[in-house]
Amino acid sequence: MSEQSSTASRTGVDPVDEVRTWLADNWNPDLTVGDWWERLGSAGWSSPILPANAYGRGLTRNDAVRVEQAIAEHGALPAPGGLGLMLAAPTIATYGTQAQIDRFVRPIVTGQQAWCQLFSEPGAGSDLAGLQTKAERDGEEWIVTGQKVWTSGGQVADMGMLLARTDADVPKHQGISYFAFPMHQRDVVDIRPLREMTGHAVFNEVFLTEARVNHDSLIGELNGGWAVANATLGFERSSLGAGGGHSALSAAVPGTVFGDLARRAGDFVGVTASATNAMSLTGASATILSRLAREYGLGDDPILRQDITRLYSMDEIGRYGSLRAKAAAVTGRNDVPGIGNIAKLSMSAMARLSREISLRILGATGMLHAYSAEQAEALDAATGTPFNRQVTEAALVSPSPSIYGGTDQVQRNIIGERVLGLPKEPNSDKVTAFRDLPKNA
Ligand SMILES: Cc1cc2nc3c(=O)[nH]c(=O)nc-3n(C[C@H](O)[C@H](O)[C@H](O)COP(=O)(O)OP(=O)(O)OC[C@H]3O[C@@H](n4cnc5c(N)ncnc54)[C@H](O)[C@@H]3O)c2cc1C
Repeated sequence: MSEQSSTASRTGVDPVDEVRTWLADNWNPDLTVGDWWERLGSAGWSSPILPANAYGRGLTRNDAVRVEQAIAEHGALPAPGGLGLMLAAPTIATYGTQAQIDRFVRPIVTGQQAWCQLFSEPGAGSDLAGLQTKAERDGEEWIVTGQKVWTSGGQVADMGMLLARTDADVPKHQGISYFAFPMHQRDVVDIRPLREMTGHAVFNEVFLTEARVNHDSLIGELNGGWAVANATLGFERSSLGAGGGHSALSAAVPGTVFGDLARRAGDFVGVTASATNAMSLTGASATILSRLAREYGLGDDPILRQDITRLYSMDEIGRYGSLRAKAAAVTGRNDVPGIGNIAKLSMSAMARLSREISLRILGATGMLHAYSAEQAEALDAATGTPFNRQVTEAALVSPSPSIYGGTDQVQRNIIGERVLGLPKEPNSDKVTAFRDLPKNA
């Protein structure tokens, strides 16, 4: 790690001023994406919220978001996106040894490796601790066999956050371990894309047949993977929830598989990460929708106005909740138990409401969706705006926030049981050996 990155947060200089000076000296659009991310990450600017020993600068979330904005305003390519930076890096920074941080976090912040999350299985989604993929010790290695599903970005990942059962003779939460798992294993790691109703294939089934992972890639304690997994899920919830503070996503894809590392960094600047410009994949903001309602001559529609205002209020409440959570993180006093779960629930409700409003603005043409570049061109020409396909894209994605990162029902269970103290669902999971629990075939 550079001298600069390890001292930055101690200098007392506003990090935004510091990153601006650094950008003036370092950003060059003619660098390759790989070389630029190497500079950005090794200077601690890719994820400055990470601690200094984990290639960050130990900034607060608020300052980290300000730094991201400064990078975007400078016209430089933002930090690599993806699950590596969002989930694996903070988890390994928390539970990994320094050797593991150097081995795994560095290639994440410099965009050299892409990660996926190998948690869910066909019989273990909400009941994640019921996972059946097993890892058996073989000298200095573990042999892994099982099936994962819904693995977002698995087809372009170099590494995976793998949960596997390492002891079936203890209750299910106590026999799980967490590994940094190498995805490039010919024949024994079989990645099969799953086509979604959007027409894309973002996630995959991953079949593991006696695949291998070294013992020194075990993150946290042996059989202590449940705590590590919960850290990852916590980072997921706080990144995904309403008011979570969106990172400026890079349009370039990290990792060795996709091929963007060798391309010119400047070519990705100003290109949005998703197919949508005005909308995020989980919908448009109330401000954009009110503008569109006016453009479509619907600014005085009383029901639309009410719903747009409702969306605005939810967005603002989410933003205040996020600011409160940030303040709590600084003072170490969380006065809103369950705030991450509430933010996640709110975000999925906002995705649905944004979908309803935007489809109502479109009217009948909202039934047309483009599944290919040619269809997109034809649709844009027919409707005179790219907004149509942006809306239908977001509408088709809109059910997913209420599922990924823990379903709405599961968030409500957590709030009910852990925050409100309501009785837990009756089961013997905590005392019965995993081996003796009833399982799906
Ligand atoms: C877009 C997307 C991306 C994803 N990416 C990844 C990824 O990269 N890696 C990964 O590991 N997983 C990923 N997932 C999987 C996701 O985490 C699971 O889909 C989710 O945890 C739900 O699990 P399940 O699909 O098995 O549904 P199930 O757990 O079978 O649930 C089915 C229904 O039953 C309800 N239910 C289940 N248990 C309870 C209960 N105790 N009380 C009340 N209701 C209950 C659920 O709320 C749901 O409505 C992704 C999912 C989506 C949609």
